[in-house]
Parts: sequence; C-alpha cells; structure tokens
Amino acid sequence: MRKGLFESKSKSKPRRCKWYDLCPMKYFYEQGKIDKSWIEQYCFGDYTHCVRKRLEERHIPHPDNMMPDGSINKDLPSCIFEK
Ligand code: SF4
Repeated sequence: MRKGLFESKSKSKPRRCKWYDLCPMKYFYEQGKIDKSWIEQYCFGDYTHCVRKRLEERHIPHPDNMMPDGSINKDLPSCIFEK
C-alpha cells in the first residue's frame, strides 16, 4: 500500500496539529490552492507558531483564508462554504 504524503516511515503516529483534519488549510492544500510548504512548516511542523491554531484555541473567530502566519490570502475564499 502506498504511503501518504506525510505519513511517518516509523510505526509511530506522525506529529501534526490536532486541528488538521478540520482545518481549511488541509482543504485548500488538497484542492491545490496553497503550497505544500505551509502544511510542512506549520501543520506537520511547528504548529505552536500557527496564528490560526492560537486563535482557534482562544475561540477567536478568524476567516478561512487566514494563513498560518496570520496573513490573509485574498485569492482564497474567507469561508470555504462560499459559492
Ligand atoms: S493551519 Fe494551523 S491550525 Fe490549521 S492544521 Fe495547520 S497548524 Fe493547525
């Protein structure tokens, strides 16, 4: 069976942000709308520095097109459910 892009070679679970499965960044990445480096640097890297994560955990609303560094990507929808 083919290994996933970020799957660890060891049997231990990969280190990643707990919000990844629900995060718009995962959606945008899978749609080919953002570069893999965002996912590598934050979601599967040092997610403690992710602005989205910090806001999420403080229950502070933020748009879906806010990148992990806090910048707004105007090429992306502010809500992934927008048409
Ligand atoms: S963008 Fe931030 S909050 Fe979303 S999965 Fe990546 S590290 Fe977590």
